[in-house]
Amino acid sequence: MAKETLGIIGGSGLETVLAEHIEDAKKEEVVTPFGKPSSEFLIGNINDRKIVFLNRHGKGHRFDPSSIPYRANFFALKLLGVKSCIASGAVGSLREEIHPRDLVLVDQIIDKTFKRENSFFTAKAAVHCELAQPYCPRLRELLLVASEKLEVKTHTKATYVCMEGPQFSTRAESLMHRNLGGDLIGMTAMPEARLAREAQMCFALVAMPSDYDCWREVSNDEGNQNLIGEIIGNLNSCSANFIKLIKEVSKLDDQVVERKCKCNKSLEQAIWSDPKEISPDAIEILEVLKGSSKR
Ligand SMILES: [Zn+2]
Repeated sequence: MAKETLGIIGGSGLETVLAEHIEDAKKEEVVTPFGKPSSEFLIGNINDRKIVFLNRHGKGHRFDPSSIPYRANFFALKLLGVKSCIASGAVGSLREEIHPRDLVLVDQIIDKTFKRENSFFTAKAAVHCELAQPYCPRLRELLLVASEKLEVKTHTKATYVCMEGPQFSTRAESLMHRNLGGDLIGMTAMPEARLAREAQMCFALVAMPSDYDCWREVSNDEGNQNLIGEIIGNLNSCSANFIKLIKEVSKLDDQVVERKCKCNKSLEQAIWSDPKEISPDAIEILEVLKGSSKR
C-alpha cells in the first residue's frame, strides 16, 4: 500500500534545507476560492513518502503573521490530497526548562489573535467544530516515536499562546502569558489549528524555541548585542532537527496510513445551518473539505 501523503508547513529557512532532502522535487501552483496560498508548493518524496511542502511566509518572507492567507493555504493542501499535515514554527519559550534548540510537540493553544479570518464558513454557514484537543493525538504519537531516534530534547506537551503581533510582547505581557499557563509564545498557531480541524485534517505542530521571550531578564554581561545572531543560530539548529524528525516520520508505515482518526470526521456533527439555506458555493467548499470532491 502506498504511504499516505504528508503535508509540511514551515518557515522560510526550512524550504531551502528541505529541498536538499526531497527527491523528484517539483513546484506546483494552486488557486483556491480563498485566493492564492502563501507560495507555490514544493512536492516530492522522502523515504518513498509523498511530501507537499508550503512556505508559510511566502517567497522572501513576504507575509507577516496577520497577513498570511491561512484559508487559501489549508484549502490548497486539501485540494492536493493532504489528509495529514505537520507544521513547524518558531516560538519564544516561557519556561526555564524549555531551552532554545529543543523541539516541542505542542498540545494546547490559547488564542489571542483578533484580526484574522479563522473559518472557511464565515458568513456562509454556522459550523461549530469541536476543538478541545486542537492537535491530532495520532500524529503527536507518531512524532513522539520518531523523536526518540533523534539526539535532541523533545518536550511532549506544551501550551502555545498565539498573539497577533507583529511586535513582540512587553515584559508585563510576557509575565502574564506565563501566569495564564502558557509555555510558548508565537504568532502563527492560530488560525492554522482551527482551519485544519474544519478541513477534517490530522494536524500537529512542532514548535522550535529560538529564545526565552522577554520575561527572563538578561544579565548585563549577556546583553542583547548578539541576540539576533543567537536566535538565527538556534532556529537553524531547530530546522535541521525538524527535518531529521520528518525523515523519521516518513519511514513509519502503517500508523500514518491509518484512516480511523476522529479528525477525519470533524465536520460530521458540526454543521448547524439547514443545508437548504447554504449557498451552492459554500456546499462546494464543504465537499472539498470533507474530501468528497477534488478540484
Ligand atoms: Zn487525526
